[in-house]
Amino acid sequence: MGERAHAGGPLIGVLALQGGFDAHERMLAGLGAQTREVRVPADLEGLDGLVIPGGESTTMTLGVEREGLAEPLREFVASGRPVLGSCAGLIMLDRSHLGLMDVEARRNAFGRQIASFEADLDVAGMPGGPMRAIFIRAPWIAEHGPEVEILASVDGHPVAARQGHLIGVAFHAELGSDDRLHEMLLRLVGETAGSA
Ligand code: GLN
Repeated sequence: MGERAHAGGPLIGVLALQGGFDAHERMLAGLGAQTREVRVPADLEGLDGLVIPGGESTTMTLGVEREGLAEPLREFVASGRPVLGSCAGLIMLDRSHLGLMDVEARRNAFGRQIASFEADLDVAGMPGGPMRAIFIRAPWIAEHGPEVEILASVDGHPVAARQGHLIGVAFHAELGSDDRLHEMLLRLVGETAGSA
């Protein structure tokens, strides 16, 4: 619980108000990062990057409001530190929620309970071939601004995007064994470290 130490690795927070934060921590730890569960604004202090996991975005929004996390999260992003939002985490980043990425996510866009599926996705800028992506009541990106680069789509609907140091994906990046998106986050952390 709390903080897992791996001497020397970057310290990555995982928003742990609700949802699937644990698997993200395991994946990050496997890549040599230190992790910290983020529940209150003080937990953001000293982090090099952040993951917003999947879960349920309405519940997560209530948690963010209860803990007064919205403004601290905006400041965190304004400070240039990278963030990866996955599934509900992508929704949290969008214009209608935290307003951190210039995207509008459509919730449950593939349908509700039945529309969970896996797909092999070609993700722009990701070496090593297609990535196995797990979609669970997933959103897609219905609209996006000019600064947003679409990295992958399913049936013509964008499901992965990058805007500077922010990455949002509609699928669960932490399930399965493919850790290349977390690697991408850690690469961004490496690029921004020292420049903040
Ligand atoms: N459908 C959920 C929501 O709208 C997101 C699903 C997920 O994170 N797996 O918040």
